[in-house]
Order: sequence, then structure tokens, then C-alpha cells
Amino acid sequence: MGKGKKAGKLWKRLAAEIDRIRVVDCHSHMKSRESYYAEGGGPDLFNLMAYFRRDFNDLVTPEQVRTFDAATSADERWGVLREALDRGRNVSYWRHHLVTFRGLFGFKDEELTDGNWRKLNEEIVERGRDPEWYHHVLKDRCNIQTGILNVDPFAPACEPEYAVPSVRIEQWLELCDKPMVDRIAEFTNSAILDLRSLEAALEKALLGYKKQGAVAIKSAHAYRRTLLHEPQSVATVERLFQKTLKGEELAPPDRKRFEDYLVFWLAEKAGELGLVFQLHCGTQTNWGHIPHSDPLHLCNLLRHARHTKFDLFHAGYPWTVEHGLIGKHYPNATVSMCWMYVISMEGSRRTLDEWIDLVPACRILGFGSDVHFPENVYGHLQMAKRCLTDVLVKKVEQDYLSEEAAVDLASKMLRQNALDLFGLPEDDWGA
Ligand SMILES: [Zn+2]
Repeated sequence: MGKGKKAGKLWKRLAAEIDRIRVVDCHSHMKSRESYYAEGGGPDLFNLMAYFRRDFNDLVTPEQVRTFDAATSADERWGVLREALDRGRNVSYWRHHLVTFRGLFGFKDEELTDGNWRKLNEEIVERGRDPEWYHHVLKDRCNIQTGILNVDPFAPACEPEYAVPSVRIEQWLELCDKPMVDRIAEFTNSAILDLRSLEAALEKALLGYKKQGAVAIKSAHAYRRTLLHEPQSVATVERLFQKTLKGEELAPPDRKRFEDYLVFWLAEKAGELGLVFQLHCGTQTNWGHIPHSDPLHLCNLLRHARHTKFDLFHAGYPWTVEHGLIGKHYPNATVSMCWMYVISMEGSRRTLDEWIDLVPACRILGFGSDVHFPENVYGHLQMAKRCLTDVLVKKVEQDYLSEEAAVDLASKMLRQNALDLFGLPEDDWGA
């Protein structure tokens, strides 16, 4: 990591300390090594697009999106991407990729153009075929020990050299639909006849995940509904669940009651079984209802399940101050910067600037890549390190933080807090 001529001595010292840290990626969607090297699984300039894809989808027309997706040639794809870049290349979502191109693929230019994209694309494809590349990027370039990997509840395995599983259980909120009940019954080999036997089946599934190494469960239901969950009586939910078992469809307010009950149940059970409960908060996708994901909705759940460790995602952006205050007032909550640096570098700096004054160091998780390709983990991590260094320099120079405390804070945020929260060993996990 370098900051060019302008970097002062303190900046360079802190940057060097940060580069030495063996990072834990606190929230990952990374492709397995096996699928990366499977036919069609490797990267190119176009499938490497991470969250810029969300902006891209509405920067060009639906026909152009279809052309891009169905294209048989890279030239066709470039034609569409060029238009999207013309309209929105300023965003951090895109600059994420320039950081990756420069750091990993020898890209020297300021921007992607008609004259340079082809060579870059060839370079990405060629590197991605090298059997050592995947490992090299993650372990040598990123210095990542492990990642907390989002896995499918019906296929929760992962490669222990690179990740530990966090099981994404939000599909379980569909247990007010009969087909999901049948699926869970089959998956857990259970007879589900009432709410109690449903809970027993879910507990069996959770224990099975733990046996396979899972350290957390995760839900991103805030993409489609509010994070405000209200306590429900067992009698009410039992009555609703009996309707589900008969194949009846619940009306929307009743679905919400069922889901609210289940989230409370999951929060308590996760605490009992020693699984961290990760929750998506903040930033939505295009057309998502932003207020749904306000982390302040979670206060009643946090106060209820006090023995449960919650890991609250994405700095709750744009409610980053509120999110920080949750991290300050609720000792069972950690606040995570996962996804944040590619959402907004300046938003990340402002968030860290405030949190470092507000939230005890042990409750901040400083990095979660939230991407699918190792190459994009690299780019995101570079942005994270840059932002963190910038903010720590400011804290040392202006806000009475000692340099020693700054280094300690960086090490906690990028590594130690994750080891403690998820109960990971200091050395390589499974390697
Ligand atoms: Zn994610």
C-alpha cells in the first residue's frame, strides 16, 4: 500500500503496521477454490464486476443489460460497460475495480478505455488459469487467515483452508409456507407436526452445522422486510403454523407475526448454541425500501437476547452513527464495516472517525469483503487499509489517540476481534 509523495511519516508507519496484520475477512461470499478452477468459473474483466453490477443494471437500458448477459464476445460486453462507465464511473463500487486492476494485473492507466480494456481482460483471464493464483492472491497478497463464509443452509460445506461457514438461514423465514416445512423435515429427517417439532428440527439442523464447523448464522431479510420484529405469543404462532401445515397461505400481517417469532427464537437459540447471529443492516439494492434496514429497529431484539452475540453488518449505512451507538450501548453487539469501503470510501472514513471515539475497540469488526472473487477481496482490502490508515493518522494527530493505541486498534479491528467473536484459533484454520 502506498500513498504517493504526500504520505507523511506517521501515515507510512501506520500503513506498514497495518500491512503486517494477518486479516480475518469477517463476511465473505467467496467462490470455493474448486469452483474457481472449474470450467467457466474463472474471472474475466466482466464477471469480475462486483457491486458495480447493481449500479450498472440501471445505468444502461434493460435491453443493454440483456445484450451484456447474453453476449458471445467480449467486444459486445465492453460496448455496454463503456456506456455504464460513462454515466457512473465515479462511484466507489467501480473504483474498487481500478484498485484491483492496478494492484494485481499491472494496469497502469487512470481509466479503462477502448485502447486498454482488451489487454487487461486477457491478463485477468490468463492469471485466473494459473493453479497457484487463487491461493497466492488470498494468502500472499491479502495476507488473509480465513473468512467467515456465507453458505447455503442445505449445502453448508466450505474449504477449511480458506473459510469457516456462517449459515444463511433467512430461507427459514419461509417456514410459514408448506414446501419449506417439507424441505426442512426432509433435511433433518424429522416429523414436523406442530411448532415444537418444527423448533426441534431447526435445532437439529443448527447442531449439524456446528458439527461441520459453522460459527454463525446469517440473515439478510432486511432486503425485503423491516428489521422491526415484535414478540409474539406461542399460542398465536402455533395457530398460524397449523394453517401452514394444512397448506393454507397466511395473510401478510400473519406472515410477519410468524417471521418475527422465528427471528426471536433464532436469536435465543443461536446464543444458547454459541453461534453468532449476523444480520444485514443498512444499504439496500436498487429499488429496495431503505427504511426497512434501519439498525435501530433491532434494539428490542438486542435487549431481549442478551446472551446472544450479534454481528451487525455494513455499518448500518446510512445510519452509521446510530449503528455506532448500538455498538456502544449493547455489549452483545459488534458493529461491522463489512462491504462498507466499496459502498463509499468517504462514508467509511466518516464512520471510523466517529466510531473510534465512540465504540469500545473490542466491538468493531474492521473488514468483511462481501465479494465472490479473491481478486475483489484484494481490491476491497486495499481500500479498507487506506481508509483506516487515513483515519488513524487523524486520530493520532488531532484527537489525542496514541500511536500505540492506534496500532492496537487496527490489529483488533482487522483480526483479533474476529478471532475472539467467532472462536477461531490464532494459527491457520484447518490448514
Ligand atoms: Zn453479504
